[in-house]
Amino acid sequence: MLWASGLTRVHTTSGGRMCFGLPTRPHRYEVVASASKRVIASRLALATLSALWVFVAWMPEGLGAHDAVGASTPPVPVLGASVGAGEATAAGDSARYLLIHLDGVSSEVFLSELEDGNLENLQEFFSHRGIIGHGVTYYPPFTSAVVKRMRDAQPINEGEVIAWGVYDPVQEANEGRARVLLRYARTVPRRARGNFFLGFPFMDHLAGMALWNAPELVETYGVMEYYWFGTDTAGHIWGESAQRRNLRRFDRYFSRMVANLPDDVNVVVYADHGMTFGEVLDYDQEVADFLDDRARYYTYPHVYLHDRDDRAEVAREVVRGTWQDFAFYEDEPDRIVGFGPEAWVTFHREGDAIRYEHDGSDPLGYADLGYAGEYLASDDWLALTHQAEFPYTPVRLMELFDNDFVGDVVVALNGKPKAGPWVYAGNHHGLGAADMSVPVLVRGPELEHLYGRDYVKIEEVLERASPDPFKATPPSREPHSATLSVRDDDGLAPGVEFTFSPRYRLQLGGETGPEVASQLWASVDLLSGYLSRLWLGVGVRDDPDQRPLARMDYQFQVRRLGMDLRLATGESTRLDLFYRVHRNVDLKLRDFEAVGIRTRF
Ligand SMILES: [Zn+2]
Repeated sequence: MLWASGLTRVHTTSGGRMCFGLPTRPHRYEVVASASKRVIASRLALATLSALWVFVAWMPEGLGAHDAVGASTPPVPVLGASVGAGEATAAGDSARYLLIHLDGVSSEVFLSELEDGNLENLQEFFSHRGIIGHGVTYYPPFTSAVVKRMRDAQPINEGEVIAWGVYDPVQEANEGRARVLLRYARTVPRRARGNFFLGFPFMDHLAGMALWNAPELVETYGVMEYYWFGTDTAGHIWGESAQRRNLRRFDRYFSRMVANLPDDVNVVVYADHGMTFGEVLDYDQEVADFLDDRARYYTYPHVYLHDRDDRAEVAREVVRGTWQDFAFYEDEPDRIVGFGPEAWVTFHREGDAIRYEHDGSDPLGYADLGYAGEYLASDDWLALTHQAEFPYTPVRLMELFDNDFVGDVVVALNGKPKAGPWVYAGNHHGLGAADMSVPVLVRGPELEHLYGRDYVKIEEVLERASPDPFKATPPSREPHSATLSVRDDDGLAPGVEFTFSPRYRLQLGGETGPEVASQLWASVDLLSGYLSRLWLGVGVRDDPDQRPLARMDYQFQVRRLGMDLRLATGESTRLDLFYRVHRNVDLKLRDFEAVGIRTRF
């Protein structure tokens, strides 16, 4: 069975010789009793597995938690890593990380949900010391611009992606949204990319089940990046109430997951940006119409002009003539000028310190915080403004204008959602707290230096974490496995199957039994997510017709329960179910006709 692949990496000390896939002296077997009547046996097994499924899926919190992962005896691998494991984890004794990206949740939404007692599982796990209410993200607050920079602990002055489009002002080359999306997706680990599909509407429960597999995956890879996109999707499409409901759903799935998570795993839950709700404005079109033929390229919030000398005039007029609240441009090095609805602002930099000035009203409202026009270092700006209506704006803008790809004019619209893909009720694009201020939750030995903080720059969260918390280490191989099954076929008919893995994502195997012709095959893992793996293989079989053997195995697992759907040339489709009864032992129901036992090592 291919399902045996993938699975738990188990160090065995037996090193037993193989005989039809059965180790000679490794693990103790207890072949599952098979009733003499096929019908009775298969129905009993099916009923048992169904009952176990219901029990596992809905068991009350706390039940069956730590026994499920063998957390008590590290570094012995955890149980049930069918979705993950191989033989050896290169993570070794290194710190392990679970990084959960909670897309599109602002500090305001998160903290009010927390205060109302709706996120009690997150509250309990992180307690007050690990809950940082005011992380400050980058401007523009787009996932594409945030994630890679978080990995590299970079401010926004480096890197090409500073919007959902990329424009190189020197080469005059541009990339559209699809290319930027691809760039961003490529920075996400292979198995985490399945989260993109789980971020579509109505996929939340599958996404939650994928989260339940996190303990095993962290054990296998040392690091797991998990993306919960449902909060972003719900906010964009249905608005704030739907986002809050989705956030509570995440909290419930999180609870069942952490019940199985070893204590020493470092856990970070962060939002990459917040969200503004309300009437959606199609202001990309409005700005494009306004710019007419003055711009070479426009991708919010960047305007690239044909004549850079027009920047002051365009900045002033775009605020007067469109919905944009602000437009900024670099007047001279270290000096940024911005126009607001009723005032202009300037930011001067000297060394690392920045000074904010304004004419007339104070559009950023910093005077109310006691700011009197002095030069402040970036940390002081963070301390002063992290709870302000415009958090950390002087520093974020100055950093953005340090980027070689920045527009000649940078606009900002703060109070209304900007039209875009999926956007019917909310979006994130402004300089205001609703978009820029995000929750950051931390727990674990490598993150203790952040305990008790009220605020943090988003790039600071993991900059001191070691080893690289974004560097997952695949196991050296998949587990080997051996399966023995029996079915009633005018008398008990045994079947055996073995798999052998020389390296990660590759398996060799063989099988013989009453339901299939004897065969040998090799398979590779073509696609994997956190719930499932897809293997493609070829082989030979003992077949008088000499038909070629090609096969596809789709494996799906949630915690202890899983299935393997096999399509192979010359055979009927087969569906196997299994339940993991022990760290490296599965009970199997093969195609509803045979029962068996499998071990992995
Ligand atoms: Zn979004």
